[in-house]
Amino acid sequence: MSNSTPQTPVTTTSLRIGNGYDIHRLVPGRPLILGGQQLEHPAGLGLDGHSDADVLVHAIMDALLGALSLGDIGKYFPPDDPQWKGADSLVLLEQVVALVKARGWGVVNVDAVLIAERPKLKPHIEAMRSAIALRIGVAPDQVGVKATTNEKLGPEGREEGISCQAVALLQAC
Ligand code: MG
Repeated sequence: MSNSTPQTPVTTTSLRIGNGYDIHRLVPGRPLILGGQQLEHPAGLGLDGHSDADVLVHAIMDALLGALSLGDIGKYFPPDDPQWKGADSLVLLEQVVALVKARGWGVVNVDAVLIAERPKLKPHIEAMRSAIALRIGVAPDQVGVKATTNEKLGPEGREEGISCQAVALLQAC
């Protein structure tokens, strides 16, 4: 065996996994939109960004793109492009899903965790899951959205921003 040439195993991969991460600053005078839902922050803060700054949807988009090694959302929706100013991120999500489908892949499930000190996100989780599932074209039980505080640690804990981590699993169709 020591003299044998290493062989690249031939595989027919029918599953791909991707992960995504995003963070946006909390600032006064901006809406707080997460999973397409407009929420009220107790201190009147919202997320800063070129689009609607929906970190949840952005992290999911990056997970979907990452699963196919297609780069990140900045490649498709550059923050210096005026056409994406104030963009509804759910519409951008639809475009990413169309890209995935055009390459012959379907979404098995996505799962995400939002990291935010405030506001309480639990009452809005189901609406977020439904809105995201609708745009992906899957059932709400294929979209996991969870929320945690950061125990007052780090930028999320100091309410300087809200971040999100997501994974997506795709299958060849
Ligand atoms: Mg973003």
